[in-house]
Amino acid sequence: MSDERRHVVIIGGGITGMAAAFYMQKAAEKENTPLSITLVEASHRLGGKIQTLVKDGFVIERGPDSFLARKRSAAQLAEAVGLKDSLVHNATGKSYVLAKDRLYAMPGGAIMGIPTQIAPFVTTGLFSPFGKARAAFDFILPRSGQTGDQSLGEFFRRRLGDEVVDNLIEPLLSGIYAGDINQMSLMSTFPQFYQVEQKYRSLILGMKKAMPAPPPTKGNGEAKKGMFQTLNTGLQSYVDAIEAELTKTLILKSTRVKHVSKMTDNMYDVYLNNGEHLRADAIIVTTPHQITESIFPDYEFFAPFRNVPSTSVATVALAFNEGDVENTHEGTGFVVSRNSDYTITACTWTNKKWPHSAPEGKVLLRCYVGRAGDEMIVDLSDDEIVKIVLDDLSKIMNVNAQPLFSVVSRWKESMPQYTIGHKDRIKEIKENMQTELPGVYLAGSSYEGLGLPDCIDQGIAAVEKVEQFLKNTPKKELAHTR
Ligand SMILES: Cc1cc2nc3c(=O)[nH]c(=O)nc-3n(C[C@H](O)[C@H](O)[C@H](O)COP(=O)(O)OP(=O)(O)OC[C@H]3O[C@@H](n4cnc5c(N)ncnc54)[C@H](O)[C@@H]3O)c2cc1C
Repeated sequence: MSDERRHVVIIGGGITGMAAAFYMQKAAEKENTPLSITLVEASHRLGGKIQTLVKDGFVIERGPDSFLARKRSAAQLAEAVGLKDSLVHNATGKSYVLAKDRLYAMPGGAIMGIPTQIAPFVTTGLFSPFGKARAAFDFILPRSGQTGDQSLGEFFRRRLGDEVVDNLIEPLLSGIYAGDINQMSLMSTFPQFYQVEQKYRSLILGMKKAMPAPPPTKGNGEAKKGMFQTLNTGLQSYVDAIEAELTKTLILKSTRVKHVSKMTDNMYDVYLNNGEHLRADAIIVTTPHQITESIFPDYEFFAPFRNVPSTSVATVALAFNEGDVENTHEGTGFVVSRNSDYTITACTWTNKKWPHSAPEGKVLLRCYVGRAGDEMIVDLSDDEIVKIVLDDLSKIMNVNAQPLFSVVSRWKESMPQYTIGHKDRIKEIKENMQTELPGVYLAGSSYEGLGLPDCIDQGIAAVEKVEQFLKNTPKKELAHTR
């Protein structure tokens, strides 16, 4: 039977796939295009890595807890699904680096660890006089002649020296990617630093000039608004609100895509683990790269994905009565440098950063464990992990009682590592897809950014490509099978 509708299948129902479904629906409504949309999700729920546990008045994020406010797409999507009033910024305040067994306040004016104000760098105890003098070489060192990709470690060590990298830049960056900065690609993570070096030569002077105007401050010089946003109802409410809007999308949960085959008519058969298949005009693939590679077994050009590592991490939330944790530090948390004898890689004083996350009189701490080269801890039992985390915490603050409860969330092979050459590999794979798999588009954390707004942006970009593709290709006879 002939059907007017074209069919778009979205594989994976994490934030990328959900955003893609939401904006695909909107585009179809706007253009009045007859379109069927199917979102296929392997697990029993949507949201992927976004998961919130609400327990005894605590709001505990098991995965991501917030997103960068300056990348607007995440807040815009929240507003579009009716959550404007639940959007909150983090409380501002000091953050720290744990280095050489002590907490040091993050030097003022540091952007991703790069000094942009001289005085706080000169006065901090985080670096030795030698380390500071080495960082000052940045003022005189020439530009690098390197035109291709390089590791973040190589780039920053050359400009600012080992100490600034090991005590500040590495812990900050590794807090975002759980990666090894000596392997991570500069061009896929922070190409702007390369551009600053090329334009201004000195990173310190260049960042000072290129830096956006500072955010408005209170009387004491502290920023008025935090850099991050979240929903005070928990990020699960984001997932729920988007799902509630997907009224014109067929959502198949607990359904795994096994593989995709291109048919002779340039349409696609999407084979599911329940033995059925979907026939699609276009596909948005939002699965992690290892899974994407297995879904397209006939296309050898996906093979480089086999060598892209993903790090395993776990988050450990600990709930306490207020009096049981004596923390003399004012601020929102700390990251841990690798030269410290600690297992945790970061800790957020969550109830200080996000007041909605704990009831009155309670404390919520959230620690991270696991990073590139240091992932075995994730395989220990919950009790073992909690003990290790508490031992670490008690070296920095007085923890006088066992937690009221703890929540360990393991994320195995969850942090894709953008290693050197990542950008070129993705470009080549996408070019191959354009020729061999027209109408199939990649989006999501394995490809072009893993922050929530980056994932949403990729979902939106994929929708635009699908729209264009459907406009440019004549409609074929469609047998929409399930
Ligand atoms: C512990 C942790 C903390 C983080 N913190 C932050 C943070 O604070 N801020 C931030 O911006 N980012 C953070 N991130 C990163 C961010 O959460 C992720 O990059 C993002 O959620 C990934 O979304 P996604 O949709 O691309 O992938 P996923 O969320 O992984 O979704 C992919 C989906 O595909 C499904 N799937 C897999 N295989 C198949 C198949 N064969 N068929 C159908 N479906 C399939 C999976 O079940 C999953 O639901 C964090 C990540 C982790 C792990």
